[in-house]
Amino acid sequence: MDLITKIKNKQRLTKEEANSLYDLDLYTLGELADDIRQELYSKKSYFNINRHINPTNICADICKFCAYSASRKNPNQYTMSHEEILDIVDNSVSIGAKEVHIVSAHNPNDGIEWYMGAFRKIRAKYPHLHIKAMTAAEIDFLSREYGVSYDEVIDMMIESGVDSMPGGGAEIFDEEVREYLCKGKVTSQQWLDIHQKWHERGRESNATMLFGHVESREHRIDHILRLRDLQDKTNGFNAFIPLVYQKENNFLKVKDFLSGQEILKTYAISRILLDNIPHIKAYWVTSSIGLALIAQEFGCDDLDGTIEKESIQSAAGAKSSHGMQLDEFISLIKNAGFTPVERDSLYNELRVYE
Ligand code: SF4
Repeated sequence: MDLITKIKNKQRLTKEEANSLYDLDLYTLGELADDIRQELYSKKSYFNINRHINPTNICADICKFCAYSASRKNPNQYTMSHEEILDIVDNSVSIGAKEVHIVSAHNPNDGIEWYMGAFRKIRAKYPHLHIKAMTAAEIDFLSREYGVSYDEVIDMMIESGVDSMPGGGAEIFDEEVREYLCKGKVTSQQWLDIHQKWHERGRESNATMLFGHVESREHRIDHILRLRDLQDKTNGFNAFIPLVYQKENNFLKVKDFLSGQEILKTYAISRILLDNIPHIKAYWVTSSIGLALIAQEFGCDDLDGTIEKESIQSAAGAKSSHGMQLDEFISLIKNAGFTPVERDSLYNELRVYE
């Protein structure tokens, strides 16, 4: 049976078959991915009203692609107090945020309590606000730094009010590329093990893939299939987020930015291969809002959210430092021919903007 027929019949592709997907032309891949997307969600495009908070940029790790952590390229160190974090949360809730997305660098100065105390204070003040926090890389860092197990960190997070985990720190799972990109950080298997532990507690998380740097197409396929394998066991990932590498202000020498065609192919292939992960997110912060909207016709059904403020990707050149206004966001989605649907962090629909 040929590849296209197999996809149309909803049969799983082997790794070898998956590796040949990039040989298909963009429109064929787009049509195949869009068929799957339309069957699941019709013309709905999901987003949430959220606020990204990045409480510190002091980091014990040295990932080559990172422009966010304080380093010789970015000498401006900062660490927020709990009061500063709460002030941001207060402001965000007052303008409608339903989720705070909290991700930090690996700061060796503050201790586990700085993290958990912040979550507890947010939870105490806002019992219904969704707290998405702590990547698997942060959990691994706290475990190594303070001699506690992954299970203990995860249980502390849950006791402190964290609802779900973001998908960061996955980068690219291939061990050789990973060693080059971010030696010393959480390994691929550890990243997967941490998410498995989180899922086994009945919790959901996102999964990411950083692409467009030094990896090959085969590395992307390998990454996607490792996620598909774990999802078969746990069913805890609610969304896959391919993150487009941002090239400014970091130590990775990548001359060429990915073409829009390659980015769209990667979104479409993700939709085709991940038959067990419900949502594919075009994170507009890294792809640009224009391409994220086009991606809604190439298998993606989610755009993340209004964000309000973002520090990590914008440090590397993304045009996201001030997020996006809700009315502008909605009208862009409508103008692209899709129906904006505000969702909560677990993809329950809150409001459909007809
Ligand atoms: S990507 Fe994260 S862990 Fe790596 S250097 Fe940047 S802040 Fe630190």
